[in-house]
Amino acid sequence: MRAYLLAFTLAFFSAAPSFADTPRVVASIKPVHSLVASIMGDTGDPTLLVSGGASPHTFSLKPSHATALNNADLVFWIGPDLEGFLANPMKNLVHDSASVPLMAVDGLKLLEAREGGVWGDHLHNGEHDDEHQDEHHDQHQGDEEDEEHSFDPHLWLDLDNTIALTNAIEQRLSDTYPGLGPTFSDNADTLRTQLTTLDLELKEQLAAFSTEPYFVFHDAYQYFEKRYGLSPLGAVTANPDVRPGARRMSELKEAGQGPVCVFAEPQFEPRILRVLMDDEGARLSYLDPLGSSIPTGPDHFVATLRALATSISDCLTANANAQ
Ligand SMILES: [Zn+2]
Repeated sequence: MRAYLLAFTLAFFSAAPSFADTPRVVASIKPVHSLVASIMGDTGDPTLLVSGGASPHTFSLKPSHATALNNADLVFWIGPDLEGFLANPMKNLVHDSASVPLMAVDGLKLLEAREGGVWGDHLHNGEHDDEHQDEHHDQHQGDEEDEEHSFDPHLWLDLDNTIALTNAIEQRLSDTYPGLGPTFSDNADTLRTQLTTLDLELKEQLAAFSTEPYFVFHDAYQYFEKRYGLSPLGAVTANPDVRPGARRMSELKEAGQGPVCVFAEPQFEPRILRVLMDDEGARLSYLDPLGSSIPTGPDHFVATLRALATSISDCLTANANAQ
């Protein structure tokens, strides 16, 4: 009986398209990898590209990554606004339809990238300085390509979006490996339940901080801030590729009155943030939108959002108590 079942299983898989028995899936960043790993469950492990303390904004591919990309049936990534290093490799994938840019899937609520004032300027490829910003925008008014680039890519930090991503990943995996569809569907149901529970938990945890000010290093958190009603004062930089100048730092300093929390990120050195912290009793803490220090895998996503909420609530609690 067992032999019969095995033969049946083998026949079933060899009848499927030319994909391997074990899914060959790549994910760009840890939060996306975690969602994919949750849905794949025991059927296989997705390969992660941006690991350790690296940032997708400043990453470059290693030769081993090129091999993984060439072999992949599916590559889940956010899109060129976040993982610029993947834009060209995605055009040359061996499997034509393998690229799944998640920023383009149905059901997302996308926010425009914040720009100007306390949110800093987006300097595309570092080619424009502050003085040329207005001119640049006048020239490109109504330019569709420019508009495409104006959405904030950190979209996984809104849990409605995360559920839309879950649906899209489940669909693509099931389309590619139809024999595993029921497993993907069960795993995705479990994940959706976890995300809904997490959302309620975070709403409760962050409700008390709707008026507490703070600074962040790069503008990665507006999805999270809008969802949970937080009140950031601004970001040191909109684009971590661009180092903030002295003028920018003094603008920010004026925006912050009294002691505030300043959140650095493990991907970027916090020395520049000291300017915001000199004599005002400000607190330095950390936020990590990628969950770099949290173990990779199915539990990573939920743990990353919990860590963000805890870091914010701990620092803002200490700050409120000090006032
Ligand atoms: Zn970012």
